[in-house]
Amino acid sequence: MTAAGRTIDVVPLTTGRVQIKPSQVRAVGAGEARIQAVFGDPAWTAPLPIHAWLVLHPDGPLLVDAGETPRATEPEWYPSAHPYYAHALRTTLDAGDAIDAQLAAHGVAPGDLRAVLLTHLHTDHVGGLNDLAARAPHAAVWVHAQELADATGAEALLRGYLPHRLPPGFAPRSYDFVDAPVGPFAASQAITADGRVRVIPTPGHTRGHVSVVVECDDLRIVLAGDATYAEATLREDAVDAISPDETVTRATMAQLRALLDAAPSMYLPTHDDTAAARLAGRVRW
Ligand SMILES: [Zn+2]
Repeated sequence: MTAAGRTIDVVPLTTGRVQIKPSQVRAVGAGEARIQAVFGDPAWTAPLPIHAWLVLHPDGPLLVDAGETPRATEPEWYPSAHPYYAHALRTTLDAGDAIDAQLAAHGVAPGDLRAVLLTHLHTDHVGGLNDLAARAPHAAVWVHAQELADATGAEALLRGYLPHRLPPGFAPRSYDFVDAPVGPFAASQAITADGRVRVIPTPGHTRGHVSVVVECDDLRIVLAGDATYAEATLREDAVDAISPDETVTRATMAQLRALLDAAPSMYLPTHDDTAAARLAGRVRW
């Protein structure tokens, strides 16, 4: 049992903050014009959290995404010649924001983790693996097969990934969806033996993007990664500027809304600055 008496619980971790362009959160225009609008946008969002999520399960703790590493503030950790990293991203974090420090604040050591589930391989979701690395020997790192191919293939940098910043020896467990449906999602990947933690396909933001569904005692929590940047943009049906094919993103958003409408639920994107308060207050979708 967790502190609140729940058999399963989700705890927010925050590995620093990020500012991006408002036109990345809510795309301006369509198709290729969306990313061009980001580079021409003089405005910045408020600093948004870079969340990761600790799932306290009876079989042991799981981590959903690893957040960013404090090393991201070192010169050239982000490639200064890359237009997105040079012009469209501001990241703020210090040593205390590292994922291992965040876990320690909740009494969890890297070696306690049973699994790390990655929604996708953008650096602000996997950089923190560098702060866990060899100290999480029991943790299988789960990455969807399409995402692994895109993030490590010849076009990875063009797609916005930083494959050279993955930790040495990065050898995740790649999978596709072969388990039971979850609402409108035709198949899933079960993570725990009781089926209360599952991964569902939510392509759009990246081609291999996934979300994690946690069946708590009182409601269903969807840990959405960057499926949308906020609960508000899911309600608005606003696509981001990053998705390679916005029709895929819109189809996923429709499925997510149907899932959330079907049962008491909570929707927690990585960069939503209302997410931690909604989780603390058990505020439903
Ligand atoms: Zn992302």
